[in-house]
Amino acid sequence: MLSSVLIANRGEIAVRVIRTAKRLGLRTIAVYSDADANAMHVKLADEAYPIGPAPARDSYLVIDKIISVAKQAKAEAIHPGYGFLSERAEFAEACAAAGIVFVGPPASAIRAMGLKDGAKALMQKAGVPVVPGYHGAMQDGKFLKEKAYEIGYPVLIKAVAGGGGKGMKRVDKAVDFDEALASAQREAQGAFGDPRVLIEKYVLSPRHIEIQVFGDTKGNVVHLFERDCSLQRRHQKVIEEAPAPGMPEAMRAAMGQAAVEAARAVGYVGAGTVEFIADGSAGLQPDRFWFMEMNTRLQVEHPVTEAITGQDLVEWQLRVASGERLPLLQENLAIHGHAVEARLYAEDPEKGFLPSTGKLHALEFGMAEGVRIDTGVEEGAEVSPFYDPMIAKVIAHGATRDEALDRLGEALGGTVVAGPRTNVTFLKALTEAEGFRAGDFDTGFIDRNVEALGAVPQPMDAKAAAVGAHHLIRKQLKRFARSEDSESAMRAADPWSVVGSDGFVLSSTAWARTQSILVDGEKQTVGLRWSVNGPVVTLEGREFPMDQVGRWYPYGHDAQIDGEARAIERLDRVFVIRNGRQTEVRAFDSLDVDLDHLDGGGSVKAPMHGKVVQVFVEPGQQVEKGDRIAVIEAMKMEHTLVAPTGGTVTMVAVLAGEQVAEGAPVAAIEAAEGQEKAA
Ligand code: ADP
Ligand code: ADP
Ligand code: MG
Repeated sequence: MLSSVLIANRGEIAVRVIRTAKRLGLRTIAVYSDADANAMHVKLADEAYPIGPAPARDSYLVIDKIISVAKQAKAEAIHPGYGFLSERAEFAEACAAAGIVFVGPPASAIRAMGLKDGAKALMQKAGVPVVPGYHGAMQDGKFLKEKAYEIGYPVLIKAVAGGGGKGMKRVDKAVDFDEALASAQREAQGAFGDPRVLIEKYVLSPRHIEIQVFGDTKGNVVHLFERDCSLQRRHQKVIEEAPAPGMPEAMRAAMGQAAVEAARAVGYVGAGTVEFIADGSAGLQPDRFWFMEMNTRLQVEHPVTEAITGQDLVEWQLRVASGERLPLLQENLAIHGHAVEARLYAEDPEKGFLPSTGKLHALEFGMAEGVRIDTGVEEGAEVSPFYDPMIAKVIAHGATRDEALDRLGEALGGTVVAGPRTNVTFLKALTEAEGFRAGDFDTGFIDRNVEALGAVPQPMDAKAAAVGAHHLIRKQLKRFARSEDSESAMRAADPWSVVGSDGFVLSSTAWARTQSILVDGEKQTVGLRWSVNGPVVTLEGREFPMDQVGRWYPYGHDAQIDGEARAIERLDRVFVIRNGRQTEVRAFDSLDVDLDHLDGGGSVKAPMHGKVVQVFVEPGQQVEKGDRIAVIEAMKMEHTLVAPTGGTVTMVAVLAGEQVAEGAPVAAIEAAEGQEKAA
């Protein structure tokens, strides 16, 4: 066995690799960017070395820095995790040149599978079925459009160098082709430095089913069955499971064999995944699946395979990298039960799934039998805008699919995140969604059900806002009494404590109070008064009696509604979690400038930290509501900003190529007469 390993990654995967490496007795070496100095993977490793500024291209992606740290720390091996340098053949070569073991396949295998066009050609030769389409060298727009016509719409434009669903556009009609192509090329250039694309037939009722393969240096290759990753959004996986629902044994055998052949064709060593797209329109069938790509690394969703096989895939990787043979042969591998994984993201499903960064003011995971949490952050940490905003993977194993889904739902239901918005309620809704439960779904399931899954703007949660307002006002009273550390002084100033301690009831008007608050940034007026039964909050003309008032806890939950709202006080705000959803309440300060409503027309602001890719308007221009204003690239995805109202563009504050901060003004529109005002 190797004696030491450097983990050239961050977040949950770095933590996960370190855990297994330590268990096997390896000395673990972490690297970190400036943004990650206090990260969990840094604390957990035996040693940690800084590698530069926060942007990945200046730290985690710099091969020379990683290699020089590895040499300095005398690392025997480097584990690349996923993403970052994991699929860069030059990195594997640089390791070899420095005499360091690369925990992964040979550089030649990475290269063979690295570009989707070359990989498809190679697989075709090896007899593996591939998706029909054009994957040649010609990149002329007119030519590609002709190819799309020949293939027949709908087609999928894919970045040849693609990954993570980036640079991928489905096109349904010829009229949309040019724009989709331009956008795919831009995204591809931005994310991979390579604008080339290929065109594929878009498979209808597509199911994403992939096979985990493993090879060793002695020529053995096995597969560890399939994972179904069909629950996707923007071609990115949201929930993954193993085995695939409705998978006939004959198809499992055919796919397993095709995947092993694919791996053999490139001399594969270590962990890899062969991704297939299957036509699920008439149920899964052994002759209706096609090769999409091979990921030459450990996959994000590998834990579901670990759960059903009882194997530790990182241990397998380290054993194979040490020159050992595969721990098990094909005939010794079997599927036990069912496992599901949900990716918990710091993003806001109610706002188009925009990443939502910031400090994790609270972070607790719900627990249930058979549940495993893989995370790289803890309470108090930041979800930084520089990297993938994944908070954790929640993995549940059970004897049956239903049991696994129940357990996953239970764990998600008990998960509390305050600060960034998350997709936790969305994930929970997915675990309960009828079609998905029934195993009747394809990659379009989420898009078809966004509304039912709650991923659309939701009205204010007035109950949660009332709980938050109550906390906030109590907090102000406490501060007012300057009794931060003296509970008795606080009680004297706090009407509810007065009642609690001596039973004396103040008249209902004595403590009535009205004030302005911000609920998720929207101004609201709340009233708070005391009734014999406890405090009552008024909001939007409704009364909300608080049904439980206990003692004062600095961060406590001393007032609730229906026993289901949890208030978390941090700094100047209160986060209320109710039914998994977060409502943020803070005092309204008249000095706060509300940019949204400043001009009465439409101010277009950057929804997140990112780079302006394109600006479509100039001052003086007339726009209609919904017209494109600009495209911002963040987290390697393009986000189109549209006009919130029709009217005249009065100001454009950005230039293409510029970086913008979250909330920065992009453009202003003066509403035309009769146009609805921006809400
Ligand atoms: P997977 O099935 O493993 O999700 P994808 O290629 O669809 O495969 O998505 C994984 C991609 O997500 C990586 O290639 C990388 O671009 C991105 N990614 C996600 N999390 C991280 C991370 N912690 N570090 C680096 N890259 C990440
Ligand atoms: P990436 O490298 O970004 O992971 P993939 O080629 O693996 O790109 O495709 C990502 C996702 O896009 C798949 O999981 C699938 O949902 C969808 N997809 C890819 N190719 C097709 C296709 N030909 N037909 C339908 N859906 C597809
Ligand atoms: Mg893929």
